[in-house]
Amino acid sequence: MPKSKSPATEPKEEKNEMCPKCGSPLSPVTETPTGKRLQRCSAGSWNPQTRQTEGCDYVKWLETPPQTLEENCPKCGAPLLMITTRFGKKAKKCSTSGWDREAKKATGCDYIEWINSTVRQELDEDCPQCGSKLVMVTTANGKKMKKCSTSGWDRATKQATGCTYIQWLNDNRPSMNNGDENFPSEPI
Ligand SMILES: [Zn+2]
Ligand SMILES: [Zn+2]
Ligand SMILES: [Zn+2]
Repeated sequence: MPKSKSPATEPKEEKNEMCPKCGSPLSPVTETPTGKRLQRCSAGSWNPQTRQTEGCDYVKWLETPPQTLEENCPKCGAPLLMITTRFGKKAKKCSTSGWDREAKKATGCDYIEWINSTVRQELDEDCPQCGSKLVMVTTANGKKMKKCSTSGWDRATKQATGCTYIQWLNDNRPSMNNGDENFPSEPI
């Protein structure tokens, strides 16, 4: 007879949770500057001088709970939630949306708005072409590149402006180039 999964039989007591490594209680939830939440083992502590964890180094990462926004869904008027995916992509979605596990169907309002999460970060590195500073750009789909800070994109003429230096970092695309296919670089 197949056992039916019943998650209700596993009570979650976050307060008295024990470290799976050493059995000490976990410290209260703390938040990183980037908004991630974690719980350290109370038998361990971070030493900012040596930049190392002293004692037990167990860290439990918690999922970031969705954040209710002061913005309403354009479809149904319910409040919107800000969600962050595992890969750091952000989206606004309707708080009435849900997932029916039994019917395997989305329920409620299906409004979702992905937030363009292209991140620009100034680097302390000079462009080999023109000597300006480089910036690290992470695109919404997780690709990273270094490009010249003077570069830009002219929407009107659909042409790149400024310095054209670009260096892709995680260039692990499968090598299935047929030679005659030229993929244009994405405008950022
Ligand atoms: Zn521990
Ligand atoms: Zn809605
Ligand atoms: Zn340059």
